[in-house]
Amino acid sequence: IFVPFGGFMALFIIGIVYWMSRERLSPKAELDLAIRNREFIVHYQPIVELETGICFGAEALVRWLRPDGTLVRPDLFIPIAEETGLIMPITNQVVEIVIAELKSLLVNERTLHIAINLCAEDITTGRILDFLDGKLQSTGIHREQIWLEITERGLVDIDAARVTLRRARQAGHAVAIDDFGTGYSSLQYLQGLPIDALKIDKSFVDTIGKDSATSSVILHIITMSQELGLLSTAEGVETEDQAAFLRARGVNFAQGWLFSRPLPAKEFIGFHKNNKETFGAAREIVTSAD
Ligand code: C2E
Ligand code: MG
Ligand code: MG
Ligand code: MG
Repeated sequence: IFVPFGGFMALFIIGIVYWMSRERLSPKAELDLAIRNREFIVHYQPIVELETGICFGAEALVRWLRPDGTLVRPDLFIPIAEETGLIMPITNQVVEIVIAELKSLLVNERTLHIAINLCAEDITTGRILDFLDGKLQSTGIHREQIWLEITERGLVDIDAARVTLRRARQAGHAVAIDDFGTGYSSLQYLQGLPIDALKIDKSFVDTIGKDSATSSVILHIITMSQELGLLSTAEGVETEDQAAFLRARGVNFAQGWLFSRPLPAKEFIGFHKNNKETFGAAREIVTSAD
């Protein structure tokens, strides 16, 4: 009778020790494990053309699906990944997931685009471009269908960034400045950068129709983007009034809960199908490479 009991005890203790060791891992070690176990998933938030309502594509947004079933938002782990030098393998996994999940959609729908978020280290080293190049080869997906989003915070080494962005555009990718207006970049800064588009941060979209002082800031951003010949996307659009304001002022694209929340791949494919039946196919948008 003691032998099986001993066996149970041993298993129980091993279980407890395993559980405690997992709980006590540092954030870096936990993320490291998540990368090795490929615990990341991607949701796609549709981006629509404001003038026509046509789906232009989607932004790929990473989430961490932990083994216990909890879904961790990127805001909670991307900064840790950046600080601990683990961002590049995460960006790479996002690229692999996007290709695996959306390859046939992108090959069949040439006017659809997917935007991928890059961090400072991706932009400084430029290695993401080699990775993308390798992964896109023989998929039939065009380089033009993959947009790259970079934040102003990502431009820590501006000379290295310039090299990477130029290479990205020569390969055919379009480059958008994400969360525009929340960083420090001045007009002067932007003028020298090889980019195609600005994403107007949600905080400015939120001011539409509210506070006239701050909503004049968004007008300046729109004008500036047009004067620089850039495409513009408004993020975090939640109301029809906001969409009407942005459309009337010539903002090209929008994303936000008004159109759709971020969706799993299958649901995004369904969204696109519906959208195409309602509004028709998108026209080709050519961005200006160097
Ligand atoms: P972001 O690129 O500015 O992404 C937009 C965020 O706004 C998303 O949050 C999205 O779910 C949320 N959002 C969109 N529309 C609305 C709306 O109408 N109302 C509200 N309240 N929120 C809206 P999410 O997915 O939590 O992403 C947060 C940030 O994490 C992203 O900001 C991006 O900077 C970063 N991120 C996400 N995925 C990746 C990734 O794969 N790599 C990197 N480096 N960063 C990522
Ligand atoms: Mg983004
Ligand atoms: Mg934002
Ligand atoms: Mg953004």
